[in-house]
Amino acid sequence: MSILTSSPSSISELVYDYKLPKKYELFRDALREFLRVHIANSVDYYDSREEFPVENIQKFAKHGYMGIPIPERYGGAELGEFGYGLAVQEIGKVCSSHGTIIGAHTGLCCVPIWLFGTEEQRNQYLPELTSGKKLGAFALTEPQAGSDAANIRTTAKAEGNHFLINGTKQFITNGDRAETIVVFAANDISLGPYGGITAFIVERSFGGIRTSKVEKKMGIRASTTAQLVFEDCKVPKENVLGRVGYGFLVALTSLDGGRASLSAGAVGGAEASLESVLDFLASRPSLRSDQAVQGMVADIAMEAHASRLVSYNSLHEVDGYFARIANQEKIPREEREVISRHTAMAKAFCSEVASRAAERALEIMGPEGYEEGSPVERGYRDSFIAEIYEGTNDIQRLVIARDLLGLS
Ligand SMILES: Cc1cc2nc3c(=O)[nH]c(=O)nc-3n(C[C@H](O)[C@H](O)[C@H](O)COP(=O)(O)OP(=O)(O)OC[C@H]3O[C@@H](n4cnc5c(N)ncnc54)[C@H](O)[C@@H]3O)c2cc1C
Repeated sequence: MSILTSSPSSISELVYDYKLPKKYELFRDALREFLRVHIANSVDYYDSREEFPVENIQKFAKHGYMGIPIPERYGGAELGEFGYGLAVQEIGKVCSSHGTIIGAHTGLCCVPIWLFGTEEQRNQYLPELTSGKKLGAFALTEPQAGSDAANIRTTAKAEGNHFLINGTKQFITNGDRAETIVVFAANDISLGPYGGITAFIVERSFGGIRTSKVEKKMGIRASTTAQLVFEDCKVPKENVLGRVGYGFLVALTSLDGGRASLSAGAVGGAEASLESVLDFLASRPSLRSDQAVQGMVADIAMEAHASRLVSYNSLHEVDGYFARIANQEKIPREEREVISRHTAMAKAFCSEVASRAAERALEIMGPEGYEEGSPVERGYRDSFIAEIYEGTNDIQRLVIARDLLGLS
């Protein structure tokens, strides 16, 4: 189904204005109200204490927001990547820490299990994740392998009916709290990324997983980012996600979705900056009539608007792409590369717009924005992470350029 209105009354409506079908509109409005009533008032509390918002995540679970893109038969809301992106946008408007926690759980743990899991794996793992009984994480990055994700050194050695996983994973969102972790390990380093890396569904209860560090961060302080050490973590063979040697594709595909939804979170961040500025200027008539200020307001609004369109297009594309993968359709490599290029563009563009919007908002509001507790101050600290995680924007630019130059 198209996300666009079924009968656009004009080209401008088709091109410039996403008229959401009723189900998305109702979902977004309900989520907005949920965030306003149950979440917004406490986000500064958790951020200032650098505390994981356990109670808030339980509220997300209670209201059915822990498996938005996942089909209903696995306990999800069955709203696909587009509906999920709309949710990340709304959450991003309120708090990027919460968006990060929900994003790692949903986009990087539930989604790969939905896309690549066997029916048994989906039935075993998704209901407890989508209901929020368990929290999910995605462990790809290692001390020497982030930008160069193919360089992972965590090993998975086959022994009888299980694999033994050994190695260190770094900067893992929800890493110290998640009960279910999608982990990437080298089954055979000599084979390189395609053939040599396998994805696993790992339960913390398997043992052999130790949290060795929890990072202190400049922003998204209510989310946790942990280093995990795997020491002879024994994973049953039936917990291979996809096929042995197929893990790099699982990771890259998951990150396509992650980047599209991350772009939507950044749109939410830019919109929040704009709203803060408009609220502030409502009581500052002299500033409101200042042309330099007007120019900055226009720039924030213009870029936020453009980023919304880029993000929605990317979400729409990934929505269809993921539905086909979940149906076991084989997608040609060229098509996959176009999707990756577009999600890389959306991620890099929207995250940079959000950072610029936060900076301009701070500039306009001056001391009032700079004060601790101001949404602009938190927004400024929180926004830059979207330029870093799920592949830095330097790496997104490599993805884009290499595809265009035929170098990938
Ligand atoms: C808060 C947070 C949460 C995270 N959550 C997760 C998670 O849940 N799961 C997970 O697996 N990972 C996660 N990450 C890891 C994240 O995706 C990586 O940190 C990121 O991809 C950068 O990789 P790196 O750490 O190796 O940085 P580096 O590669 O060391 O980057 C350092 C700098 O060098 C630049 N650079 C590197 N290579 C190139 C190149 N070839 N060309 C141009 N510039 C280059 C980078 O752009 C960057 O500016 C998280 C990171 C953070 C900070």
